[in-house]
Amino acid sequence: MKSGKFLGSYKIPKVYCANCAHCTVFKQRVGGIGSYVLRVRCSKGIWKKHSGEEKIYKYFTIVRRTRPACPYYDPMGDEKAFIKELRKSLPVKDEIYSF
Ligand code: SF4
Repeated sequence: MKSGKFLGSYKIPKVYCANCAHCTVFKQRVGGIGSYVLRVRCSKGIWKKHSGEEKIYKYFTIVRRTRPACPYYDPMGDEKAFIKELRKSLPVKDEIYSF
């Protein structure tokens, strides 16, 4: 069973984007030479700003990216177990790495 919000007595299912094959992590250069931060995007282009531009998120916030439903959701395995492990391994803040 998927987790989700209750609406009256009906529970609206939601999916975690982190468990979707279309949620991708990439390195974004910052500051000086050889530094980068981790960002995530939806390769299906679902995440958008009000202006219509693509929206990207900081990697450490990835478990907050949920959707009530998504026609492109492509689960990579058991969602509950994956999200539980991911929560343990995610950084607690935006971190700068070196190449
Ligand atoms: S395709 Fe849907 S479920 Fe997958 S990352 Fe994009 S918005 Fe999330």
